[in-house]
Amino acid sequence: TGPSAPASQRASNKPSCKPAVFIPVDRSPEIQEARLKLPILAEEQVIMEAINENPIVIICGETGSGKTTQVPQFLYEAGYASSSGTIGITEPRRVAAVSMSQRVAKEMNLSHRVVSYQIRYEGNVTDETQIKFMTDGVLLKEIQKDFLLSKYKVIIIDEAHERSMYTDILIGLLSRIVPLRQKKGLPLKLIIMSATLRVEDFTDNNRLFSVKPPVIQVDARQFPVTVHFNKKTPLDDYSGECFRKVCKIHRMLPSGGILVFLTGQAEVHSLCRRLRKAFPYQKNNTAGGEDDKEDSVEEMRKFKKSRKRRKVMTLPKIDLNNYSVVPVDEGDEDRDADTDDDAAGSDIDLDLGDGDSEEDEKSDSSLPLYVLPLYSLLAPEKQAKVFRAPPPGTRLCVVATNVAETSLTIPGIKYVVDCGKVKKRFYDKITGVSSFRVTWISQASANQRAGRAGRTEPGHCYRLYSSAVFMDFEKFSAPEITKRPVEDLILQMKALNIEKVVNFPFPTPPPTETLAAAEELLIALGALKEPPVTGRLKQQLAAKLSCPISPLGRIMATFPVAPRYAKMLALSRQHDCLPYTITIVSAMTVRELFEEFDRPAVSEEETAQLKGKRARFLQMQKIWAGQGPMQKLGDLMVMLGAVGACEFAGCTRKFCEENGLRYKAMLEIRRLRGQLTTAVNSVCTDAGLYVDPKMKPPTEAQATYLRQIVLAGLGDHVARRIQAEELLDEKWKNAYKTALLEDPVFIHPSSVLFKELPEFVVYQEIVETTKLYMKGVSAVEPEWIPALLPPYCHFGKPLENPPPSYCPQRGRVRCHRPSVFYRVSWQLPAVEV
Ligand code: ADP
Ligand code: MG
Repeated sequence: TGPSAPASQRASNKPSCKPAVFIPVDRSPEIQEARLKLPILAEEQVIMEAINENPIVIICGETGSGKTTQVPQFLYEAGYASSSGTIGITEPRRVAAVSMSQRVAKEMNLSHRVVSYQIRYEGNVTDETQIKFMTDGVLLKEIQKDFLLSKYKVIIIDEAHERSMYTDILIGLLSRIVPLRQKKGLPLKLIIMSATLRVEDFTDNNRLFSVKPPVIQVDARQFPVTVHFNKKTPLDDYSGECFRKVCKIHRMLPSGGILVFLTGQAEVHSLCRRLRKAFPYQKNNTAGGEDDKEDSVEEMRKFKKSRKRRKVMTLPKIDLNNYSVVPVDEGDEDRDADTDDDAAGSDIDLDLGDGDSEEDEKSDSSLPLYVLPLYSLLAPEKQAKVFRAPPPGTRLCVVATNVAETSLTIPGIKYVVDCGKVKKRFYDKITGVSSFRVTWISQASANQRAGRAGRTEPGHCYRLYSSAVFMDFEKFSAPEITKRPVEDLILQMKALNIEKVVNFPFPTPPPTETLAAAEELLIALGALKEPPVTGRLKQQLAAKLSCPISPLGRIMATFPVAPRYAKMLALSRQHDCLPYTITIVSAMTVRELFEEFDRPAVSEEETAQLKGKRARFLQMQKIWAGQGPMQKLGDLMVMLGAVGACEFAGCTRKFCEENGLRYKAMLEIRRLRGQLTTAVNSVCTDAGLYVDPKMKPPTEAQATYLRQIVLAGLGDHVARRIQAEELLDEKWKNAYKTALLEDPVFIHPSSVLFKELPEFVVYQEIVETTKLYMKGVSAVEPEWIPALLPPYCHFGKPLENPPPSYCPQRGRVRCHRPSVFYRVSWQLPAVEV
């Protein structure tokens, strides 16, 4: 605290002393009236006393009780904020950070210069900022710069019940920062806010907090919500089912807003379009047209400029030490995580039926429906619309992803339509590759969604699944950190200079094997510095999980993708490979670009049809990319070609259908490419990449570099064909040995390298059907392996009594960890080591 700090700040430095002053806030009468209705207002005194007297306080309260908007104001009024001591609030979602900062500024009648927000690449923070909303990832990055968070007086961790990985880590870090600040005589207050009462992981965890923090419960008024289950559970078309249900509600039930839960942006838009068509609202229709445009597509169009001419150099290899990008500060990921709660939900009553019958798209109802989309990436001014009253004579209908579950409270909702699904990130155990998949929600989530209907009067929740299906839902979804590989998290923690990750006070620790596997992979990728010793001691040191981060690791930590892919991106500035690596990384993340994988062919006719489509596609791809050595990129070239050819044709549904591509996957790849390009541009400010979906095919030289880049990233996924002399059993003909599995594996029949059978390959993933199959296969040249993957190799002395075929200049290279490779150890031609 500076010498000019007001008395209140000095006072608040003493933990058990109440701030002496009250900072007045000039609120409008309407705002004041609305505030007084919020349940949390009744608890202001209790909350402030607890905060004054304890360094750490937990506040639990139902969504909509006023936690996010009011607690920062209580603190402000009590003199906790000044321009030198900010109140920081973290949100797991960007949408909440932006919209809550705007709401609080408005309620307090202060400008955004004082109440500001900061999300990954955007914010309006100034020197005057006293209340700062941000994503949890942003605060994590700030801790990397200033471990004591000295510019904050208070940190509020909001939505802790979501148990997002960054929130969990922040709580762990803050459990150490708070006592450190206390010691320095500059106390920091930590407030953890949760929409549920399930906070034992934070309170009954003496590794985390030595003194159990007080828990304040805010009793929210919740009107009864009648829950209606469907008799049957629709299989796939939950979006269509949502449409039919909304139509029925709108036609048959009294006034009151409708809130629909769907899983993703594309679905939200398509339902919005259908509903607008069915119940047109003139003004909204024109305004709505804008909303319909996918923002990322719009963005891409803006950037659609002619690309810079590529200059192609003829260096033989990518340079492993060339990762000269400039790291930037923040990073967060947009998540649509699941939540935990038990909210109201009773049994059957006024039921609309299962809605099996097809509805007309055109409706006879004269009352227009005011349809609004809501999802994380929607532009803030469009998001803000949901909080305004709908135009007179219309009914509000918000079609949302699960951002509306706890992050945002939409006023006036009486009916909830819950599809029961959520889009979540899943992680592949073998490859660590992540993808988004739609799955059932948890019971807690379903109840939380139902609760949205009972904010202002009794409401109804229509669940598009049966009660039997509901009983099968898991009760709560497990904390994110226990369900996923943690190499990216470990990399982030190492970037914070937390070297001994096993000792870290996780609210729920991930299994030690998961931590060890992550550490090992990061060492191999070069993101962590290996212990400077060899042999057993080295293993012991690595086993303690205490290796520090390397300069390459710091750069990798700034990319918003898994470390294997981050390594590929870090190497890709060479030879202008970035646009291609971005595309390959996006395609590998989205996966299943081709129809066959989606829908097993039933009839011979259909099989023939798919074959025809595939042949046509390969033809198209050849037209785009040409032939020749480029084909050694194998399935990754097919992925690149799929995107390249498809974008070249304008990425239309027609093109995709004719060529057996999944249209949805192609759109998703386009979005991801846009996102990654933006991320890379902000890391490498001079890269100047354009977000142009169209790209020229790579040159032959670039295709070779790309194979090397992929090899450098997927180093633990190398496989070598079993050689004739090693063949013990005919059934292993054409089989490969991998570094990770004992059993031999095969190239998947769908791979373009199925017949080529290169000696060395890298694969994206292994799937088990009738056999173990490698998918996403590229050929690599043997001499690249020791050059690009030294951590996986072990260089032996030349043999003393070499067999006749043995050339003395050759070293012996073997993978040093996995036992299989000891047995298959191979000799390499002319390797200099
Ligand atoms: P909690 O964090 O406990 O879920 P909030 O503080 O987010 O509760 O919300 C309190 C009230 O403020 C809710 O009734 C909500 O509808 C209202 N509110 C929040 N943001 C806005 C906004 N931008 N415009 C109008 N009302 C809002
Ligand atoms: Mg909130």
